[in-house]
Amino acid sequence: MKKSLILSPQQFTLLTLLFTCVITNTLNAQQLPPKVEQWSILHCGTLLAIPGVVPQEKVSIIVKDGRIVELRKGYVKLSSLKTEKDAKVTIIDLKRSFVLPGLIDCHTHITFEMSRQSRLNRVTETDADAAIKSVVYAKRTLDAGFTTIRNVGSGGDAAFALRDAINSGLVPGPRILVAGEAITATGGHGDGTLGFRDDLFDIPGAMQGVADGPDECRKAVRSQVKRGADVIKLTATGGVLSQTAAGTDQQFFDDELKAIMDTAHLLGRKVAAHAHGTDGINAALRAGVDSIEHGSFLDDESIRLFNQTGAFLVPTLLAGKTVVELAKIKGFFPPAIVAKANAVGPVIKDAFARAYKGGVNIAFGTDSGVSKHGQNAEEFLIMVDAGMSEMDAIVCATINAAELCGLANEIGTIEAGKAADIIALANDPLENISSLKNVWFVMRNGVIHKQP
Ligand SMILES: [Zn+2]
Repeated sequence: MKKSLILSPQQFTLLTLLFTCVITNTLNAQQLPPKVEQWSILHCGTLLAIPGVVPQEKVSIIVKDGRIVELRKGYVKLSSLKTEKDAKVTIIDLKRSFVLPGLIDCHTHITFEMSRQSRLNRVTETDADAAIKSVVYAKRTLDAGFTTIRNVGSGGDAAFALRDAINSGLVPGPRILVAGEAITATGGHGDGTLGFRDDLFDIPGAMQGVADGPDECRKAVRSQVKRGADVIKLTATGGVLSQTAAGTDQQFFDDELKAIMDTAHLLGRKVAAHAHGTDGINAALRAGVDSIEHGSFLDDESIRLFNQTGAFLVPTLLAGKTVVELAKIKGFFPPAIVAKANAVGPVIKDAFARAYKGGVNIAFGTDSGVSKHGQNAEEFLIMVDAGMSEMDAIVCATINAAELCGLANEIGTIEAGKAADIIALANDPLENISSLKNVWFVMRNGVIHKQP
């Protein structure tokens, strides 16, 4: 009997898949050059490998294919490395530099930068405008020595696209953890339609982060995770920059807060809560939040809850300073925002100082986007001015921030096995913290982005 050559649909699909695989593999083999080992030896004059521990003099960092291999005393020579024959080795002279781990900012809005036009931009700019601007802001942030950021709230898909483009090496920028849209109550601080005419926007829902009641809160969290969120942000209280005179107190009920925490944690995401008012801070802490952003009106009970749960405070002192300065400019903000800026701005630094004295875990965050991107290091100056030691401020922006980001095994210190995120400065920041404003060398994942 003659065998039929007609294939079943399943056989046809299998054959097509097989054929595609063969073709793709052949093409890849033709297009990709053979992989060459990439080595770097960084000769460091002074090295703060582990913030919190005394820096060492004259140390070499050895990096291979983007990861730190080892640290060695003295200035290691090329000949002492065991590399493959055709390996590419770069020797980087940082003998007159102070070298430390790449900095981490746990609170940015990378697709946005505040201006007089911000309110108008909401109805004139598209997601594409935001995406293109974010490429510029990301480069500025990286050049300032921030090799990782946590982007806690931005509309649309721009921040996700930026994160993925940076990860694939298409554009330079920091590693980004993206939150997507902040989860907010209807008319709450994160409701992007607040203060606009009703017919300008569709009624926002789960994808825009707007949710009322535990079920909608679960759906809003799941929607952000569905679109690719690495972390969940929520607005537990009112905020300064929303177009409303609704104050800065609690906006979610306890059962809504719990639904957000439980859903995010179930899906393996940490939760960052924007919170100014005391009631909202404490309710979010009781619900099991991982970090409180701002914390302006925290009290003794908040400090007790922070210490009990181990949650982090992300102070954003630079945002407090920036809004107070801008509120002085006539017409920059509408009156409702001026009132809130003047209520929150002056107390945020004192709240930070009390939390620091109270032993609260603190992770560095600026709210950049409210201030200009690339000026993130200004936050260090305010932290030190409020009574924090220079070393502790650096710990907040490295070890503590890495822990809050869930990346403690990857970044935050210069140790064997971690990503080669390394920066260098001309002067010692432990003597003068403002030297962190002049970062002259930036390496991320072993790739040099800036050098003297
Ligand atoms: Zn913010």
